[in-house]
Amino acid sequence: MPRAITLCRAFTFAAIAAASLAVPQTARADAFTSCVASKWPAARSAGVTRATFDAATRGMRPDPDTVRLSNNQSEFVKPIWEYLETAVSDKRVRDGRAMLARYRTTLEAVGERYSVDPEVVLAIWGMETSYGSYMGDHNAVRAAATLACNGRRRSDFWTQQFAAALKIAQDGHVPLDQMKSSWGAAMGHTQFIPTSWQAYAADFDGDGKRDVWRSIPDAFASTANYLHKHGWNYHETWGYEVVVPRNFDHKRADGKQKRTLAQWEALGITRAGGGSWPRPDDQAYLLYPAGANGPAFLMLRNFDVIKRYNNADAYALAVGHLADRIIGGGDFIQSWPTNERPLTRTQVKEMQSLLTRRGFSTGGIDGQVGPMTREAIRGFQTASGKVPDGYASTQLLQDLQRR
Ligand code: CA
Repeated sequence: MPRAITLCRAFTFAAIAAASLAVPQTARADAFTSCVASKWPAARSAGVTRATFDAATRGMRPDPDTVRLSNNQSEFVKPIWEYLETAVSDKRVRDGRAMLARYRTTLEAVGERYSVDPEVVLAIWGMETSYGSYMGDHNAVRAAATLACNGRRRSDFWTQQFAAALKIAQDGHVPLDQMKSSWGAAMGHTQFIPTSWQAYAADFDGDGKRDVWRSIPDAFASTANYLHKHGWNYHETWGYEVVVPRNFDHKRADGKQKRTLAQWEALGITRAGGGSWPRPDDQAYLLYPAGANGPAFLMLRNFDVIKRYNNADAYALAVGHLADRIIGGGDFIQSWPTNERPLTRTQVKEMQSLLTRRGFSTGGIDGQVGPMTREAIRGFQTASGKVPDGYASTQLLQDLQRR
């Protein structure tokens, strides 16, 4: 009894001493608890039972990494050539070849069932988790709940992911405590968010579970199914590195104009390293990922299918290139403009407001170079007699500042 009193007093004393620090944190925790509780109707609509919901959310606290990383948008943007150097490193190519040798039978069976080229599945696996070597040590339910209740953007989207994650665990595809994910709730070998898992995950090893965490065949099949359902064209590649002639009208590289490869060739474009087109009638668009001073590519339909996995040119180019390298293709031939530094987010914002002020609308000042910003850059470049490649370079910002 005396001991209890002492402890109790000690606790009270400590509690008072810490009160000013502890209160905001407790308030935040309470706000999180009530926010998570408010997600019950969404979970119920997704088919989650009260018992699952209560068991999964009891005592849940926000994932601190998710809070930190989702609020932390980097000021600096990595140049695409540095990104590709890491994404398609020699080690990743070597590991990919080793994985191809090891899983060839499964990959070929998956490829045939879904009409998807196996090396692309392999490349996505390599890009997403370095072939399963790092799947993230967060929990998908907790990460999604944190994003849904973090008071930031897209709360409805994350509420849906949270409810879907609960349903996946409830259905027994993986135990809740093994539902590993990235801080952004991307799950398993090839990083499916929960609603994508629901729509595309597949059971390939036949145990009735769509286990993208522990079954390599399921992970391959799920990825192939995702690409197939988004329109993958079997045995067509993603695109070609090309050489653009001098005095080319660069306005054609707007990422929208499509022509057949034969028509592009008639405009003077050739394959880098020579060679002919396997299918000259394929439709393609011209892309300069680092402006007119860097390599050029003609992109086929499959390039856009890869972008459905992650909507970034750099990502899709890395996946396509890694796939090619794994099956014996060489490096890109043309060099990147490595003396260029990409604009920081603050500089992009400045560029956007200067463009907007000159009547070239960027559709907002958000620090991101999206399609509208590239279109505005092209407009300004055309009006000022520059090469209209739509690329946000330091030179372009200086031109805007000068005028
Ligand atoms: Ca399975």
